[in-house]
Amino acid sequence: MSKLEASELIAFQRIFSEDQSHAEAKCECGRLYFDGYNDYDAEWVKEVESFRKLAKKQPDKYIEIPHAIGVSVIDGKRFVYNCKCGGLKHYKDLIDDNAEKIIEYLRKKSAFLMQQADAINPDKQ
Ligand SMILES: [Zn+2]
Repeated sequence: MSKLEASELIAFQRIFSEDQSHAEAKCECGRLYFDGYNDYDAEWVKEVESFRKLAKKQPDKYIEIPHAIGVSVIDGKRFVYNCKCGGLKHYKDLIDDNAEKIIEYLRKKSAFLMQQADAINPDKQ
């Protein structure tokens, strides 16, 4: 992935991001990510220890990262930022591959909405 592609993916992640980050989050692919750096509370410290044990047995399924977990939501699916499944990139690529058609659709939709607004307030025409 080039630097430009990486920057575009980061922007895409943020646009579709949930409002808050998490101490732990499961990606659509089934991988569970947990924040091993921040000590949120005593319960969390115990939770991290149990996740670390699971991570030793299944390192591809339980993944410790040194910060809170960002999640993007699209099409009803939750994807952890930068998960190796690339699930979010699939949607970005779909939109990129159809960008001209999506722009054309949004222009037509915008014109339709303006017609509706003018119909509600005919003095503005
Ligand atoms: Zn994933």
